Amino acid sequence: MKNFTRFKQILRTSVPLAMHTWLQLGGQVEYFAEPRNEEELADLLQTASREGVETRFLGTGTNVLVSDSGVPGMVVRLTAPAFCSINPDPASETVSAGTGAKLGRIITSAVYAGLTGLEGLIGIPGTVGGAVRNNISTSDGDIAQWLESVHIVRLDGQAADLSAADLDFSEGNDPLADAVITACRFRLQTEEPEELTRRLQKIWILRKKNQPFGYQGAGRLFKDPSGSAASELIDDAGLKGTRIGGAVICERNSNFVLIEPECSTDDVHRLIHLIQTQVRERSGVDLETDLTLW
Ligand SMILES: Cc1cc2nc3c(=O)[nH]c(=O)nc-3n(C[C@H](O)[C@H](O)[C@H](O)COP(=O)(O)OP(=O)(O)OC[C@H]3O[C@@H](n4cnc5c(N)ncnc54)[C@H](O)[C@@H]3O)c2cc1C
Repeated sequence: MKNFTRFKQILRTSVPLAMHTWLQLGGQVEYFAEPRNEEELADLLQTASREGVETRFLGTGTNVLVSDSGVPGMVVRLTAPAFCSINPDPASETVSAGTGAKLGRIITSAVYAGLTGLEGLIGIPGTVGGAVRNNISTSDGDIAQWLESVHIVRLDGQAADLSAADLDFSEGNDPLADAVITACRFRLQTEEPEELTRRLQKIWILRKKNQPFGYQGAGRLFKDPSGSAASELIDDAGLKGTRIGGAVICERNSNFVLIEPECSTDDVHRLIHLIQTQVRERSGVDLETDLTLW
């Protein structure tokens, strides 16, 4: 073990990542850490940088596809209570949350407090951190439009507050590339909670209709290209239900892969490649995968 001895209460070695991702695939990571607070997180990241240990961050692993041979270095998850608080504040029309909190929890907390904005994203699984990092979206819009600020800790252990305006992702720019987001603040609008709750329930039912049954063992494959749905492009290419090894295109929504026993990460990679090739030939559209490939 590198010089991580003082982190032994929060760090494990040779951890299979399959049990921490929805696709339940892939090999091990050398170090797996769950720091208890921001100070410990900063110390851990600084130590890893000094030791030359590559670090990645994991939420609930809904869209991470881990290589069959595993990944080098360290994976950090923000599961401790210090990273999972949610504070809606109707007076300032904001909701603040630790990024380890589940997205569904922040949405329902905001709605019950009479704050509208995020409810269009109900039913999308994952943490607040993963949602902001990926800028999750539906046909109603993305999460970035409600984001006011983020608190981050960089890989060198330095913390910073960034406003939404600081998060410029244009021209290949990635202001979050060397950082973990630990907290976010969203600016919302006031609305009558009962009407808002009814709308939330309606959106939730519609969303669930288009998702695979039985959450785990499924993953969303592609971002929707502007103006069309990835699932429709896959259907148009005649690929509904296609299988490679243990990776199968979901019948209910072709933009999801279902993982059967004996499936490998390589099967999913080959399925992604097949879909991209055939959709390009049929529709001339380049589908970009939504999965984070480790
Ligand atoms: C059934 C289903 C339906 C879905 N529907 C939609 C949809 O409608 N629209 C949509 O946009 N997506 C959708 N997704 C994709 C997925 O839910 C999101 O990408 C999700 O928000 C990822 O959150 P997570 O916590 O699981 O992140 P993970 O999968 O664990 O990580 C995703 C990425 O975020 C990074 N990350 C995670 N936490 C942090 C942090 N705190 N700081 C910095 N980086 C971090 C990771 O390093 C990784 O690169 C769907 C997925 C599934 C399985």
